[in-house]
Parts: sequence; C-alpha cells; structure tokens
Amino acid sequence: MKIIPLSEGTFTIDKTKLFVPFDESSDDLQKRSKGSLLVEIQPFLVITPEDVLLLDTGLGFSDDKGVMQIHQNLMQNGINPSEITKVLVSHLHKDHAGGIEKDVKSGNATLSFPQAKYYIQKNELEFAFKKGFPSYLTEELEILKSSEQVIMLDGNGVIDGYIKYEISGAHCPFHQVFWIVDGGEKVFFGADEAPQLNQMKNRFVAKYDHDGKKAMELRHKWWKEGEQERWTFLFYHDVKHPVHHF
Ligand SMILES: [Zn+2]
Repeated sequence: MKIIPLSEGTFTIDKTKLFVPFDESSDDLQKRSKGSLLVEIQPFLVITPEDVLLLDTGLGFSDDKGVMQIHQNLMQNGINPSEITKVLVSHLHKDHAGGIEKDVKSGNATLSFPQAKYYIQKNELEFAFKKGFPSYLTEELEILKSSEQVIMLDGNGVIDGYIKYEISGAHCPFHQVFWIVDGGEKVFFGADEAPQLNQMKNRFVAKYDHDGKKAMELRHKWWKEGEQERWTFLFYHDVKHPVHHF
C-alpha cells in the first residue's frame, strides 16, 4: 500500500473550537489562549491495488482562487480528485468532514469527490444534527442525507473484504476506526481516538473526549495489539509523526 499524508498545516484549538493557523517558526504557543492544543490536520491518501482511498477530508478550506486545499494536495501527489474511489469518514466533526463537499455557500453543494463512495455511520450523521455547532457544521452535512454516493454504515463490518470498520465511540458516540489489510500489511486509522503518537504511549483522560476513560483504554489496547501484529498507524493530528510503522 502507498500511504501519503495530506497535511493542511498546523493549528491551535481551544475551547472555542476554532482552528487558528500556527506557524512554528514565528508563532508562540504561550501567547495562544490557556489550554490551547497544537494539532496538525492531515487526511491520508492510501493507494491499494483495489482503490484510491481518502481517510477523512480535512477542514475544507480553499485558496484565493477557490481551489480546495485537499484537491490541491491530491493533485500535487499526482491524483485527480475524481480518481478517489472511497472516502472513509471516521466522524463528522468539522476538522474531519470539512472537505466532504464544496460550494455550499453558493447554494450548489456537491460532493468534492465525484466518483467516490462515502462511508459514514448513520448514527453519526443523526447525532451531528442533534448536536450541531460548533463541533458540527450541519449546513455542510445536509448533502449526505440524500446523496447516492453515500453508504450509510450501521455498526461494525467489512468493506470489499479488506477494509474493516468498527464503532469505537469514545471521542464522540459514533466515531468509527478502520483497518485496511492488504498485501500482508495492516494499516490502522484511529482518527481522534488515536490522534498523535505521544498519546498512544501515555495513559491520560482527555477533557475533549465524549468518554475519555474509554478513549484511554482503547489507545492502550490498540497500541499493544499494533505492536504484536506490526500495524502501521496513521496519526491525523500529529505534527511530527503522521505515520508510525511497527
Ligand atoms: Zn479531530
């Protein structure tokens, strides 16, 4: 499998849940509000013999010319957005689901990956509309309710015999994680329940999780299993270590 992190940059986030760009060469973390976390935002492109997979979709920001950053990043890696065959979505918080669609503001929302199937947990979509702003931007999620490109998942299962998905439900109640098993390699995408390398090694309960204790136990379990079975971990929010091979 070929794995390419698609970094959208480094940001700080605090209790306002706004992502503020952070330049490590000139910005000072101490000057950001108390409790600010430093995070990378990075979806992953995974190319298998069967598929061109996208794992989560980033913030959905566009440049001055209106080109989406995620499209730009794909094209820089020689992939046209229409070549994506599957979009695997861990959950619908805005930093993971922002790039699902485009042009919602002009009233012509379309999915950003015209040939892809989008794999979304049915209950997560429902929960997003219950919970709403600021974690979820429901206006941007509306299109998912009616699109024929969306595959509504309900619980745990396997896609095409090689992509396993499981509801982990700790960061938010219907968060899902994925294992992609191909050619003797096992790639694990834990999204916000395994967001950074350091978090895998330390036991702590995070305030931003729906069930912080469960998230802690899951991280511990996956890290041990991953070590035994030599998984490759993809860390969506890690500034320095997007990919970890055991
Ligand atoms: Zn996140």
